[in-house]
Amino acid sequence: MLFARSAMEDELLETYSHWINGAYHEPSGREWMDTMDPYSGQAWAKIPLGVAADADLAVSAAKQAMTSGSWASMSATQRGKIMRRIGDLTLQHADRLAELEVRDNGKLLAEMRGAINNVAEIWYYYAGLADKIQGAVMPIEKSGMIGLTQREPIGVVLALTAWNAPLNFLALKCAPALAAGCAVVVKPSEFSSVSSLFFASLTQEAGLPDGVLNVVTGLGQSIGAPLVEHPDVAMITFTGSDTTGAKVYEAAARHMKRVALELGGKSPNIVFADADLDLAVAGAVSGIFGGGGQMCTAGSRLLVQNSILESFTDRLVSSARSIKLGDPMDPTTQMGPMSTTPQYHKVLEYIDIAHQDGARCVLGGKPASGPGIQGGQFVEPTIFVDVSNAMRIAREEVFGPVLSVIGFEDEAQAIAIANETPYGLAAGVWTRDTGRVFRMAKALEVGTVWGNTYRTYSYMMPFGGMKKSGIGREMGIEAVEEFLETKSVMISIADATPQNNFIPR
Ligand code: NAD
Repeated sequence: MLFARSAMEDELLETYSHWINGAYHEPSGREWMDTMDPYSGQAWAKIPLGVAADADLAVSAAKQAMTSGSWASMSATQRGKIMRRIGDLTLQHADRLAELEVRDNGKLLAEMRGAINNVAEIWYYYAGLADKIQGAVMPIEKSGMIGLTQREPIGVVLALTAWNAPLNFLALKCAPALAAGCAVVVKPSEFSSVSSLFFASLTQEAGLPDGVLNVVTGLGQSIGAPLVEHPDVAMITFTGSDTTGAKVYEAAARHMKRVALELGGKSPNIVFADADLDLAVAGAVSGIFGGGGQMCTAGSRLLVQNSILESFTDRLVSSARSIKLGDPMDPTTQMGPMSTTPQYHKVLEYIDIAHQDGARCVLGGKPASGPGIQGGQFVEPTIFVDVSNAMRIAREEVFGPVLSVIGFEDEAQAIAIANETPYGLAAGVWTRDTGRVFRMAKALEVGTVWGNTYRTYSYMMPFGGMKKSGIGREMGIEAVEEFLETKSVMISIADATPQNNFIPR
């Protein structure tokens, strides 16, 4: 967003540069763009408006690091040691990193501070995995032959990240990629790039060779697309919307590049009448209003068994009504602003659409105003009832604090409604019946199922989507697989030329 301001005001803004090959680089075109504080509604820093020439520089630094630098010949154990130091430095700078995230994305400081601790844990986890990546000796049927597999880094990785949790995404992509021996170019969201630019220099302090991790910024079209098309990028790991994800997927397909896509969702949070309803109310509220609903896993469709629909909705409304909106830096604030101006308008538009389609608003439904929240782009916690699963509010991702409540009769109907969506990211099931939790976990077409909890993540548990929610998995040991190629090596140890080893292929 551009604001009219004097040259003096302009100079007061913090100015950041790309991080390429172990040093800060001004953008090739010498152009910067504003980054905005969603709470004050004002620009607070400037980031490089990168172009294709910057993409070239970053990719060539990464390629060089992978092919001829010390990274290429470094032992996996040493890679792990450096990654552990990245975790240590993350903790040492946690306050600063959390503050930078909040200035850019408006999430609660307390939440982002906790998230930074988790970022350090992600680096430690993958540091430990770096020297446990193993090939195998295969018992092949050929006599006089040895067959073995080697696991090799796929090549230069492009990491495209979304605006809601930049350093978390950076760690979830870069830590397994580095454990696998790859070099990375990160392009964070133009709405929240500062923390990634600052973080990059810590990796150098940790001893990461120059060029192994580069961060370039700017708009998706101007620098993201040239990065995706770059011939020396072997793989793209992307977190963002399914619309952009599809574009990245199409471009990658033209070059046969591997992709991992972490996309959006319309996740069902399903409450049965036999659940602990106190826990379920708390889980439903934090499932949609935590982070202002700006989470890929937002439990935006609340499915409630008809026998408790009315009473549960009343309890939900009264709990959500008490959510305190305000300054994300204030520890008493429970919900901050919408992170970006386009997102703010999109959320309000979806509220209009829900009204037009016949849903009934029982809480919120408009921009929030009042003391302490005048400058920012706040939306009231909003709850719609009388929602049918066919309405747009139940089918399309809003990415804001808007909940649709839908009734269901029994388990079979809950599963049918839950699965009747183009997305498949996550689901919550609230019930005291353990057998039902397992049955639902099997039947739900999603990457993650939570039983009697919601938004519980572990870097040890693979995470990703089915259907339009994505391809591939982050977190857990599986994430490293995304960044590895398997090479088969067959060697003859026979004295003479082996017979009958040739099969047409
Ligand atoms: P977005 O798709 O607008 O942007 C994501 C990234 O792609 C940004 O860095 C952007 O600059 C870049 N980009 C845009 N156009 C591009 C192009 N043509 N080529 C290359 N790069 C391009 O997403 P967003 O608005 O930043 O994030 C919100 C979305 O992310 C929501 O849909 C949310 O559900 C999803 N998300 C998913 C997960 C997950 O793990 N599944 C986590 C968080 C957010």
